[in-house]
Amino acid sequence: TQAPIITVDGPSGAGKGTLCMLLAKALGWHLLDSGAIYRVLALAAIHHGVDTESEDALVPLASHLDVTFKAEGDLVKVILEGEDVSKTLRTEEVGNAASKVAALPRVREALLRRQRAFSDQPGLVADGRDMGTVVFPKAEAKIFLDASAEERAKRRQNQLQQKGLDVNFDRLLSEIQERDDRDRNRAVAPLRPADDALVLDSTSLNIEQVLEQSLAYIKERI
Ligand code: C5P
Repeated sequence: TQAPIITVDGPSGAGKGTLCMLLAKALGWHLLDSGAIYRVLALAAIHHGVDTESEDALVPLASHLDVTFKAEGDLVKVILEGEDVSKTLRTEEVGNAASKVAALPRVREALLRRQRAFSDQPGLVADGRDMGTVVFPKAEAKIFLDASAEERAKRRQNQLQQKGLDVNFDRLLSEIQERDDRDRNRAVAPLRPADDALVLDSTSLNIEQVLEQSLAYIKERI
């Protein structure tokens, strides 16, 4: 039988990554960070001097990506062509490049099988933009985690400040809005809640409350 699947979609910075990590841990299930796959592809393109707007050049790169995800405690190490790229992947620059390659239909198609292969017993928690709508449309439980752009920029700024990085709030906000617009308005697999998704707005919720509401919903469905 197919392993059960929980999908968590939403815009960048809504807290999907933290929620998915906590859900996977609470349930003892596998975790798919699909955004990391798009980020790895963008980084591989940069490394190999491949134009991030050329679908023809990106498709073969996407089909042959040499990437492994290694769980280490709560963290997942990402190894691209033998190199640990976990840190580089998280930069805004790579996030933006990822959202550009992610807008190309044949690139998304080339990454579908790789994403579905993460589904395994006892279950999968899948984090992304189109997990509930395209990649796992039959998932048992679907969550769409949202938050206002201002709140997401504020959280991102706090994260960066904790790392000792000072960044301009207005610039962060406009980068977040630009990336959201691209993700929401692209022709293929745009960011939107699946018809059967639970929409959770985390603007005024802390992570404990988000986890609690998610688990209550999941328990009803699985
Ligand atoms: O979630 P994360 O910020 O790591 O994703 C980076 C980019 O990859 C997103 O802005 C989005 O354009 C793209 N993405 C996507 N579909 C997914 C996951 C990520 O298009 N399932």
